[in-house]
Amino acid sequence: MRALTPVSSPPLPVARVLRPAFARLRFLRSVWRRWFLWVLLAVLVLVLLVTVVWLAGRHEVEQTQNVLDRDTADAVSDLRVGLQRNAQTLRASLGEGVDRERWETRAADLLREHREWLRLEWRDAALQVRGAVDTPYRRHAFEDTRRGADQPDVLLACAAARKLGAPAYSPSHYVPFSQGTGFEVMELCLPVEGGAYLVASYSLRDTLIELVAPTLSRGQEVAFTEVDGTRLVAIGAPRRVGTRVFTAQQLIDLPGAPMMLRVDGWRAVPDLFPNMLTALVTAISIALVSVLVLLARDTRKRQRAERDLADALAFRKAMEDSVITGLRARDLQGRITYVNPAFCEMVGFGADELMSTDGEAPYWPTELAHEYQRRQAVRLAGAVPPREGFESVFMRKDGTRFPVLIFEAPLINAHGSQTGWMSAFIDISEQRRIEELSRASQERLQASARLATVGEMASLLSHELTQPLAAIASYASGSLNLLGADRSQQRSRDHDEVAMAVRRIAEQADRAGQVIRSVHDFVRRRDRTREAVAPHALIDAVLPLVRLQARKLGVRVEVALEERLPAVFCDRTLVEQVLLNLARNGMQAMDMPELTDRVLRLKVVRAGSVGRDGDGATAADARRWLEFSVADVGCGISPEVAERLFTPFFTTRPDGMGLGLSLCRTVVEQHGGVLMFEPQRPCGTIFRFTLPVT
Ligand code: ADP
Repeated sequence: MRALTPVSSPPLPVARVLRPAFARLRFLRSVWRRWFLWVLLAVLVLVLLVTVVWLAGRHEVEQTQNVLDRDTADAVSDLRVGLQRNAQTLRASLGEGVDRERWETRAADLLREHREWLRLEWRDAALQVRGAVDTPYRRHAFEDTRRGADQPDVLLACAAARKLGAPAYSPSHYVPFSQGTGFEVMELCLPVEGGAYLVASYSLRDTLIELVAPTLSRGQEVAFTEVDGTRLVAIGAPRRVGTRVFTAQQLIDLPGAPMMLRVDGWRAVPDLFPNMLTALVTAISIALVSVLVLLARDTRKRQRAERDLADALAFRKAMEDSVITGLRARDLQGRITYVNPAFCEMVGFGADELMSTDGEAPYWPTELAHEYQRRQAVRLAGAVPPREGFESVFMRKDGTRFPVLIFEAPLINAHGSQTGWMSAFIDISEQRRIEELSRASQERLQASARLATVGEMASLLSHELTQPLAAIASYASGSLNLLGADRSQQRSRDHDEVAMAVRRIAEQADRAGQVIRSVHDFVRRRDRTREAVAPHALIDAVLPLVRLQARKLGVRVEVALEERLPAVFCDRTLVEQVLLNLARNGMQAMDMPELTDRVLRLKVVRAGSVGRDGDGATAADARRWLEFSVADVGCGISPEVAERLFTPFFTTRPDGMGLGLSLCRTVVEQHGGVLMFEPQRPCGTIFRFTLPVT
């Protein structure tokens, strides 16, 4: 059924403008929904990677800073120990009963060993210099005149030392030398027995070199600074370009001279990839991003495959929905897994109803359910169904039964294993109805044929009986004349009675003649039933019957009609009977076991080769006559048979009557046509007859 399209007013211009906009919006929304998760994932991965790289970098910086802090603390502790040891060494130089000369010799030895000292002095309690020795590594480091008892740094250090009773240091001070150079110097004052002092002048720069630098690695700058950060002295490599500076400071809490040790270290590697860890994290990140890209590509491929699959499914569904053949799939347990709309329509049940049943199908007729169950069990056990299909009977929802033709095939999945059975159903109730109609029509035709045969016989009988009847009548009237001529007086009563009997005979013969004439008239009366009939209508009328018998005998029927043939003027029933007779004879002639390709050809053409007399055709004939032919490839007709072919009651078949061909010829000739036959090459016979066009 086709739904009627509702008549609607033309859409408003605004709606016309908005519709594509909405469609586009819907499309964009679906695209956005599909890509949103991917974009979100990519952003999250990016944020994660940046965070990991940043954290790794920061961790590296902290580690470097920690190492530098630790190294600086170690250096300060080493420096303290060194200074302490120096103080002890210095104290040891002034032993019991040491005079100035011996001390100066010892001091000179000490100065050779300790490059950080610039000068050693032995001062008395009033801080007057009793003995002094300068470092052999520098010339004229100090002017003796400037190193008196009133030198402020020494005063400060010794005052502190006296107060503490332990070595004390002076704050650093700058000592200028000649040629514009100078030293940053720190004094150590060491109180000794007898109120005297030993004073050592430290060069801060050499102290750094001797006591601090060996413990610190290269690539760093080491400096002594004031507590407020003012740089006093520094040693080490200058900072390189493209490096990052790390700074560590540590207080060197010397008694009397608080100072800071400052270390500036730098890393040569770029800040973005400071070490292996970060490089590793970065490499993993790149791998992660690559995997993400591959994943995205793979997803795109999958989406394309899904789209193709959806298209194929839609195509398949459209195909299944459009066919009129019912389709049904069953699994290996016999449960229905799929039905198409045609099948639902055929049986009258919905797809849900059919698929929810277990065991007996609802379309099995109750009386046959048991047999069908057995058939299903055989099929599920793996029996292969016949290729040409088999017939069965199904029941509609309303209880009516109908015949179906079933074709079954195993259902094979993508892995090549069987998952069930696929069946196709054709409702053959209409075909059965047509066959039934054909059968009835054939019976009717056969009845007409029998009648026609009777008519023929009657006609023959009438022809044959007319003469004896006429003879009887004339003998009777002759006898009466003879009896009437005898005028003698001796006419007996017997004589009258004989005359009466002869009169009666003459009357009955006359009556018999009338009966025969009326039968003849009855046969003749068929002329009045003639009409114009299209040749294809004649062929179409007999074709179902011919095909029915052809199927039984395994004969192929071929029909060929010339185009635009005119109608013929004939008694439709009789001509159909002729065609049927000739076709039946042809098919019976081909009923030989050795004959494999059995073909019967029905043909209608304008009379071209056969005239009314059978002696060549003319153009006028072609306009006036149509030629029907029935050709077979059967056993053919031998000359003996040909001689008697149209003789009534001649037959070669045990069950034949021998009236068919004779009747055919009569009918054709009644229409003014001619029936003839000829052998067909290489085997068989062609029967032809002509009929007049309207
Ligand atoms: P019947 O129907 O009893 O066979 P017919 O008059 O139709 O009588 O046929 C008479 C005989 O003619 C048949 O018995 C058969 O021997 C022969 N005959 C008719 N048609 C053919 C044919 N197409 N090929 C061979 N023989 C035929």
